[in-house]
Amino acid sequence: MSKPLTKRVLLLNLLRELAIKEPEGPIEVPEGLEGFGEVHYNPAACIACGKCINVCEDDALSLENVLDLSIFLDPHLNIDEIRSENRRILVELIRKLAKRMPERAIIVPDGIPGFGTIRYKRVFCTACKKCVEACTEGAIRILPIFNLKAIFEEMRSESR
Ligand code: SF4
Ligand code: SF4
Repeated sequence: MSKPLTKRVLLLNLLRELAIKEPEGPIEVPEGLEGFGEVHYNPAACIACGKCINVCEDDALSLENVLDLSIFLDPHLNIDEIRSENRRILVELIRKLAKRMPERAIIVPDGIPGFGTIRYKRVFCTACKKCVEACTEGAIRILPIFNLKAIFEEMRSESR
């Protein structure tokens, strides 16, 4: 983990040490409890503008120059949830042209704005909702869940 340990990370480290058994899954955050929740990200609607990253004071978000085209071919994707008209047109075009599911994500070449994928680190997120307010595309929302199991997994993979 490159950034200095915040009080939150120290608390999570302590919880991990105290945990007698691994949490089985996410728990619901009780109504009115601030500071807990999880970002839900819709990569198909994201135009990689970076506004969410700029407002996140906890360094929980970053932009990776990769794009998984299979998200556009997912039959469960609701195109109406994509606000950008350009993006909707592109998705429809990809759907018409694609003959098979791509096997891997593509690297977005330098100098091509509008494409990329947001990476999210639960461990740093304080569920402040600033990213939700900053995202004009509706690509981010906060789910009222706290996923300690996933947070512990993240911490483990960071320390490897
Ligand atoms: S999630 Fe929203 S604010 Fe963040 S990069 Fe994507 S479109 Fe921009
Ligand atoms: S909810 Fe707040 S801390 Fe979490 S990713 Fe969004 S801006 Fe960052």
